[in-house]
Amino acid sequence: MKEQEIQDLKKLLNTSKDIVIIPHKNPDGDAIGSTIALQNYLTKLEHKVTIIAPNDFPTFLKWLPLANKVVIFEKETEKANSLIEQANLIFTLDFNNLARCGDLEYSLKKAKAPFVMIDHHQQPDNYATYKYSDTSMSSTCQMVYHFIEMMEHLDLITPEMATCLYTGIMTDTGSFRYRSTTSTTHKVIAHLIESGADNTSIHQKIYDTNTLSKLQLKGVALKNLQILPEYKTAYITLSQKELNQNNYKKGDTEGFVNIGLSLEKIVFAVIFIENEQEGIIKISFRSKGNFSVNEYARNHFEGGGHNNAAGGKSNQSLSKTIDFFISTLLMYKTSLLKS
Ligand code: 5GP
Ligand code: MN
Repeated sequence: MKEQEIQDLKKLLNTSKDIVIIPHKNPDGDAIGSTIALQNYLTKLEHKVTIIAPNDFPTFLKWLPLANKVVIFEKETEKANSLIEQANLIFTLDFNNLARCGDLEYSLKKAKAPFVMIDHHQQPDNYATYKYSDTSMSSTCQMVYHFIEMMEHLDLITPEMATCLYTGIMTDTGSFRYRSTTSTTHKVIAHLIESGADNTSIHQKIYDTNTLSKLQLKGVALKNLQILPEYKTAYITLSQKELNQNNYKKGDTEGFVNIGLSLEKIVFAVIFIENEQEGIIKISFRSKGNFSVNEYARNHFEGGGHNNAAGGKSNQSLSKTIDFFISTLLMYKTSLLKS
């Protein structure tokens, strides 16, 4: 963030404001952790702060301190719209393109308040007056920590804020193993533990949340796993029928895409999940090395994200989507084999 922007924001935050904070649709640990931590911080500065999420978030995140105060746009549209209309300042966290907010996009486009973007995804849009965008960052949670640092308020971090920030850094770095995990990330984590984040308990609350039906759904995913060794690629499909048969709940497929990437010699892993209600196939992409799934998802599946983790969607049927996916691979053969 530019020095001038920091100074301007400090001045702006000197007097009480009505603030709204927005995570992306289908919010994950980083999106929910960062928004709640920022809400806690801004509330301490005596602002009136509400989080509005485009849609609901998974059960494994509901235990986070103050998670029950999040307004869900899909359920409380009128309330959310009036909060956005009244806001003097709008923070958008963990995304950089308003299209990532589903139908909330249209309400945000009508808002009069200036936007502050805090995000680590590639190719940011230009809607924000204040832009803190850094694609080298492990997570938006780490950026919220640095944002509080820039505001010279690290001493205001409470155990609740530390818990939320630790959670998002942990989930977005695959528990501190992805390339984006730096020595600075570990220093931030150390300070969060000192500030009251209980690391062991957070790991358990996020990862030890299996139910029998979730494990059985994983069994179906494993059965459906396909390998294309000529492209060093693996993919999984889950149809709506298979989800229904296994009592699917939001969040149950979290992490499944990584199963393919754990195979020896595989550098590109994909999961295709049918969503009959939205009439789409939701797709997650993961890679190892130089193969950019951000570029791939942008080029073929209306998506994007990071170099090694991205998402997208298809409006075709599951089988047509797979046929199309396989047909695209030939043009990436050289770069996949080099990865
Ligand atoms: P996931 O596969 O876990 O849903 O998402 C992986 C990464 O890609 C996340 O950083 C997420 O924010 C981003 N992402 C997921 N879906 C989309 C999408 O449809 N469009 C864009 N631009 N990014 C996405
Ligand atoms: Mn993130």
